[in-house]
Parts: sequence; structure tokens; C-alpha cells
Amino acid sequence: MIKVTLLSHTPEPEKLVASAAKLCYSNASIEQIGANLTPEKVDKFLNMLVDLGHESPIEHICFTFGIEGVSRTLLAQITRHRIASFSVKSQRYVKEGSFSFVVPPEIEKNEETKALFLKTMEADQKAYDQLSEILFEKHLKELTAQGIPEKTAKSKAEKMAIEDARFVLPNACDTSMVVTMNARSLLNFFRLRCCSRAQWEIRELATKMLALVKQAAPTIFRYAGPGCVNAPCPEGKMSCGKKQEMMDYFRNL
Ligand SMILES: Cc1cc2nc3c(=O)[nH]c(=O)nc-3n(C[C@H](O)[C@H](O)[C@H](O)COP(=O)(O)OP(=O)(O)OC[C@H]3O[C@@H](n4cnc5c(N)ncnc54)[C@H](O)[C@@H]3O)c2cc1C
Repeated sequence: MIKVTLLSHTPEPEKLVASAAKLCYSNASIEQIGANLTPEKVDKFLNMLVDLGHESPIEHICFTFGIEGVSRTLLAQITRHRIASFSVKSQRYVKEGSFSFVVPPEIEKNEETKALFLKTMEADQKAYDQLSEILFEKHLKELTAQGIPEKTAKSKAEKMAIEDARFVLPNACDTSMVVTMNARSLLNFFRLRCCSRAQWEIRELATKMLALVKQAAPTIFRYAGPGCVNAPCPEGKMSCGKKQEMMDYFRNL
């Protein structure tokens, strides 16, 4: 199951954005930009930015998430978002003793597909273990022959073995990561990935991330969500036709 934690974010995120906006539109000095920024004034500045479409001030605030229980399929999708920073559990250095995996709900709810899926995972695990073992023995022999001390040779041989054995691991393989995005990039991420046309796993993750940032910066993320939440649906002929339902859901998230 997907688990997302908001590990950290810029302190007083909305006040910082309002301060940056105030600098743009007044002759206040850096020392003065944070002064007298009451919650009402912060709200006013933020709403003005939204109305003007002036998005760069929201780049100053960042949110860092800890994400667990997602598949390598999701990893391939989320890392396409270039305006973000990622630290991902390495399959190169961390041996998949008995790898965990994500079962798509549609596969899980059907006995036949579930059985086939689990059988495939079992076979993958067996192949990974066998490859790791065979490669480990080969590398250990070669490294020992080069005169490398046994302890170092074993550690090197294991690393070399799992580096290649991981090629048989499936897209379903579970992973975890730490992800940081600024608010502007997050709005783009939510626009694309909360949409009902996005793939189910990343949509579920994006929706959980949105619920967390809404607590930390409610005004900035007030209208966040798929493109249809505050504008005509951008999907054209591919639209799901559920604009009102989506608006209600995401505005009340
Ligand atoms: C429903 C769906 C289906 C998809 N299907 C596919 C698919 O079949 N194949 C596939 O390869 N990808 C696919 N993608 C991925 C998609 O093309 C994007 O790579 C991904 O969503 C990242 O979005 P982004 O570029 O807006 O985000 P980011 O990389 O975070 O970029 C944010 C914004 O910065 C700007 N930007 C960033 N880099 C550049 C640049 N080099 N030049 C100009 N502007 C830039 C753009 O305005 C961009 O929107 C799909 C995405 C979705 C949501």
C-alpha cells in the first residue's frame, strides 16, 4: 500500500511567497518585506498571484515527501518530472532478499490473474536468487585469484552479482524514495497526475501528496488538482466528462 509522509517543507511557506510577491510590487526593502504581513495580507497577495498567473514566487517554497510501497513502474513515471529532486532505494547496492511487489487492483480481484501474477513473481525471485548466487561465486573466484582479501572480495563480488541479477526484477518490484518539489512544479504534477486519465498508481500517490500539501499551504493549493478543477478540461476528446465530480472532490480534499 502506498505510504506518503510529508517529511519537511519551507517554514511559513505562504508568508514567504507573499513576501517575495510584495517585493515585486512595492518599494519595500528585503528587511521590510516580511513586516506587517498579517494572514489577511498574505491571503491577498497569494490570490493576486493566482489571478495574474504570476507563478514564479511559489518556486521559493519546497516540499519533501517520503514515499513507500510504490512500484518501479511508478518510479519510471514520477522521475519524468524534471523539476524535482529524487533519492531512490538502489537495486544496485541493496540486495532484494525477498522482494516485495505491488499487485495492481484489477489483477488482485480476479483469482486467475492473481494466481498467474504471484506465480510470475515467485519465478522472478527464484531467477534473481540463482543469478545472484552463480555470479557471486564467479566473481569471488576471480577476485580471490587477483589476491584481494576474502572479506573485501566477498563484498565486491556480492555488489557485482546483484548489479546484473537485478535485470530480471519486475516493474512490480516495490521501491521507496524521497522526493522534493517546489510548489510550482507540484501544481504541474497535480494537474497531470491527479487527472483521471493518469495511470491509477501515480494518480493515487499524487492525490495523497496533494492532501498533505493542502494542510501546509491551503491557499496556494486551494485550486490544485487535475486541469479541470479551475479551467475547462484540457483533455479535449479524451475528457472523462466528470468535471463537476472532480471539482467537488479535489476542492474538498
Ligand atoms: C496521462 C499521461 C500520459 C503520458 N504518456 C507518456 C508516454 O506515452 N510517453 C512518454 O514518454 N511520456 C508520457 N508522459 C509523460 C509526459 O510527457 C511528461 O514527461 C511528464 O508528465 C512530465 O511532465 P512535465 O514535462 O510537465 O514536468 P517537468 O519535467 O517537471 O517539467 C515542468 C515544466 O517545465 C517545462 N520544461 C521542463 N523541461 C523543459 C524543456 N526541456 N523544454 C521546455 N520546457 C521544459 C515545461 O513547461 C514542463 O511542463 C505521460 C504523462 C501523462 C500525465
